[in-house]
Amino acid sequence: MKTLKIAIQKSGRLNEKSVEILKNCGLSFENYKSSLISSVSNFPLEILFLRDDDIPEYVQDGIADLGIVGENVITEAGAQVTYLQKLGFGKCTLKIAVPNNSTVSEISDLEGLAIATSYPVILEKYLQENNVNAQIRTISGSVEIGPGLGLSDAICDIVSTGGTLKSNGLKPFAEVMQSEAVLIGREGSEFNPEVLELLQRIKSVLKAKATKYVVLNVARENLEKVVSLLPGVKSPTIVPLFEEGWVALHSVIAEQDFWEKINALKVAGAEGIVVMPIEKIII
Ligand code: ATP
Ligand code: ZN
Repeated sequence: MKTLKIAIQKSGRLNEKSVEILKNCGLSFENYKSSLISSVSNFPLEILFLRDDDIPEYVQDGIADLGIVGENVITEAGAQVTYLQKLGFGKCTLKIAVPNNSTVSEISDLEGLAIATSYPVILEKYLQENNVNAQIRTISGSVEIGPGLGLSDAICDIVSTGGTLKSNGLKPFAEVMQSEAVLIGREGSEFNPEVLELLQRIKSVLKAKATKYVVLNVARENLEKVVSLLPGVKSPTIVPLFEEGWVALHSVIAEQDFWEKINALKVAGAEGIVVMPIEKIII
């Protein structure tokens, strides 16, 4: 079996969740300390710990077979890679923001203004699509201080909660791109059997994460009503309880659906509701 290489961020916002998802796939390895490479002892895989900016090119050029990185970084790098799976973490949005007292209110108002960003490629494409000519000032970090320093009239930067913008007297004004962490491969790598095996494991972990194992008690006379409230459950397991006329219902439910139904379930007669995490769902 060929040993694959997967590149993940060595430290920063994506590191912890990238390591976690690989560990949840049953892979056994040491997290980044000082060495750039870590070998997985129970799968033909090596993990390369890199700066996130380097990951798209490493995958494109075949130095790594796979990578975990934000879509924003891939698009900015213009790398030719294949998206294998969205991973549901590292979610953020690239937004244009202006000072609170700015009169800019439409994209066309940016005409002729200076915009500071670390994402010149993405911003330029966005401005072109909107037929706006603005001056892009590329800076590598702390973009949000641009307007305060007189460097720019606006900024284009990553926003997740908006706290950094607020504390710098800025308000978001237009959304340029949404992003999350994705698993990428070289073009054609989706046909590689080892890649497919790992991808299958990752999909199983993601599916399990979004799903819960629910057990609840209900009197037989209320059973049908309770089952009808559980979305997507075709045929739950019903186990008789010691107490005459009562059963325990076991089922697997998408967590989001479950929270929406919890009050209705209680009203319908569900008691002793227990919600448990699922480690993997083999798909
Ligand atoms: P590196 O040292 O690897 O170059 P970095 O400083 O460029 O790290 P981080 O701040 O660790 O990058 O962010 C990595 C990725 O996390 C971003 O490219 C983006 O996809 C995602 N992300 C999610 N939320 C945020 C946020 N609030 N600010 C910045 N990035 C975020
Ligand atoms: Zn980076």
